[in-house]
Amino acid sequence: MSSNADADPRGLLFVVSAPSATGKTTVVEQLVQVLPGLLMSRSYTSRPPRSGEEDGLDYNFISREAFEAMVARDAFLEWADVFGHYYGTGRDETQARLTAGEDLVLVIDVQGARQVRDRLPQTVAVFMLPPSFAVLEQRLRKRSKDPEPEMARRLETARREVDAVALYDYVVVNDLLERCVAELAGIVVAERARLARRHESIQPIIATFRKK
Ligand code: 5GP
Repeated sequence: MSSNADADPRGLLFVVSAPSATGKTTVVEQLVQVLPGLLMSRSYTSRPPRSGEEDGLDYNFISREAFEAMVARDAFLEWADVFGHYYGTGRDETQARLTAGEDLVLVIDVQGARQVRDRLPQTVAVFMLPPSFAVLEQRLRKRSKDPEPEMARRLETARREVDAVALYDYVVVNDLLERCVAELAGIVVAERARLARRHESIQPIIATFRKK
């Protein structure tokens, strides 16, 4: 493991996980629209693009071989095999953005979230739940172009994934998109206001209270 990813970063790192079809990508896309200084990370995957998906926009789509080569040279902050395909977060680009003071959101599965927390314990982890399993199933069937066995697999995985909720700092329920975005934004804003993070920037204000 490289020590690079463990350097004290200036930006905040958020991880959002949720069962497939909870709507986490839509929520986080809206979140970064409303919160300046917050960026969504773009993952690498060996999964083929779905129709409408674009390389370099939705994901960096690469071959299994190229992914394995990146694993071999420790190019990922985290990576996982999800539904038979590889997914991973680039280590150097993540570190560069944090060092530049940008706050970053990773939308990744629970295996990846665990790895990020091990490497960067200051990570703020948020779990997103759908209103119920039945709603998740409806959403998955509505949006998915995947074949039936693939959908069944995603639903079975979802049953297990919710057990990981205990590992997260926050939990939000995606019942209404706008409400869920607002709640997530509230979490980011609150984390930005922690004393430890503001300690330096408030010193000039505190100084004005000192007697000359
Ligand atoms: P999908 O194929 O539906 O785009 O994504 C499948 C799952 O992979 C989702 O749970 C998604 O959050 C997760 N995922 C996407 N990118 C990454 C990543 O970089 N790392 C990990 N660990 N999971 C990811």
